[in-house]
Amino acid sequence: MKNGIYIVATPIGNLQDISFRAIEVLKNVDIIACEDTRVTKKLFGLLGLPSNKEFIRCDDNTENKHSDQLISLIRSGKSVALVSDAGSPLISDPGYKIIRRCRQENIDIYTIPGPCAVICALQLSGLPTNSFMFAGFIPNKEKARKDLFLKLAEIDTTLVFYETANRILKTLKAATDIFNNREIAVAREITKMYEECICGGIDDVIQHFSLREPKGEFVLMISPPSKEDKKININVEEMLRTKLSEGSLKTAVKELSDRYGLNKKELYNMALKLKDE
Ligand code: SAM
Repeated sequence: MKNGIYIVATPIGNLQDISFRAIEVLKNVDIIACEDTRVTKKLFGLLGLPSNKEFIRCDDNTENKHSDQLISLIRSGKSVALVSDAGSPLISDPGYKIIRRCRQENIDIYTIPGPCAVICALQLSGLPTNSFMFAGFIPNKEKARKDLFLKLAEIDTTLVFYETANRILKTLKAATDIFNNREIAVAREITKMYEECICGGIDDVIQHFSLREPKGEFVLMISPPSKEDKKININVEEMLRTKLSEGSLKTAVKELSDRYGLNKKELYNMALKLKDE
């Protein structure tokens, strides 16, 4: 086994999604850097992999601390596999800081690709996949969530978020004002027994999860704005307020008018009023 660091994807539900390469690497590396040693040791047991290896815990809190240790182990000739609890490491999971340090230190880095909830969810959704933006977990605080939604609502792409069972309904309700006319998809429990992907208008999806208690792991996807959405489905005042807080009045008016085809004079007057407030 060449020394270096191997980023290894593991299943997000169905054990059979482990790849041949992943098995080979996990079997042969010296050290396993993982988010939670208990979870990874359990996976090793289920896959019949040898557990007589060194498992080093590298979670969000210890990632920085362990980077130096892992780099010196690799320099001394060892090989390291980086795994997270499930799915692709680094994607809303630890690992980025370690890999960045490895790159700075000219350590060999290999990827062993496999399951990733963002990609699986997009494939199930039927929403446009030619361009998408993965925005990670949605903030729980109302203002932060709204600010994020307002910012993303302007982007001409499919939006993808990770979400939890106890927050999905609240998030969908918060998204109603901003993404009201858009098609959305919620994929849950992908590759597991109760996998489903609910698609439709936000109201339909809210109704679905109001009738059935949301359970499991979730990915929320929002379709890009249609031409109509761009024109009429924005809260102009909110948008203008955000733009004014980011730059000059002239820029704010120009950007909104260019993007949504809104009347410049009307925007200008509204912006003056907002500035006065
Ligand atoms: N790195 C992993 C990946 O991209 O595959 C994701 C890790 S992140 C900490 C966990 C989140 O991913 C969950 O809260 C959920 O939003 C999403 N997720 C993971 N597995 C899933 C599954 N089987 N079905 C739906 N969503 C899933």
